[in-house]
Amino acid sequence: MGTTNLYSLPKLSFDYKDLAPFISEEQLRLHHEKHHAAYVTGANAVLERIDKARKEKTDLDMKSTLKELSFHIGGHALHSLFWGNLAPKGKASERPVGLLATAIDKEFGSFEQFKKEFTQAAVSTEGSGWAALSHCLLTNRPLIMQIEKHNVNVYPMFRILLVLDVWEHAYYLDYKNLRAKFVEAFWNIVNWEEANRRFEDSLK
Ligand code: MN
Repeated sequence: MGTTNLYSLPKLSFDYKDLAPFISEEQLRLHHEKHHAAYVTGANAVLERIDKARKEKTDLDMKSTLKELSFHIGGHALHSLFWGNLAPKGKASERPVGLLATAIDKEFGSFEQFKKEFTQAAVSTEGSGWAALSHCLLTNRPLIMQIEKHNVNVYPMFRILLVLDVWEHAYYLDYKNLRAKFVEAFWNIVNWEEANRRFEDSLK
């Protein structure tokens, strides 16, 4: 094969054990090494299939191929964002910081109100999905998205600032079916500095 650029699994900026007790070492390792890795492998496999079909001049089912690609790329991108907006408790601030803190207060009235709405978005996600705080470049407003699977209900042009994975694979070992407990635990390990860095970057 040629020198096609492919996706790769990013390293975490902390150890697998560092997010305990909110996310256990076993849960985090499995999530990163197996689940996230599967999306990387999946996205690359689709790209290779597309390359091969072009080379051999065979037709692909574009509808199903692109749907699959969107799912895997979405999974890879969201997981990469997720690891980046997590931090061991005590390493990051407990509340939003910088311009993001100001924007959240302005949009939601208070951090508590934002937390309530984001929590509701996460807990009420049907099946597998994500809650995300994003920045709308058209209105300059922070906005919560509820993403189904990895790629449904995503708004184009919105920059994602903070995500929470609420697929069962994200919490089942630690919390069984109690998704709300996992969502509650998440607030202890949010890397607000990173979320603010993404926001300030998006404002440029
Ligand atoms: Mn996941």
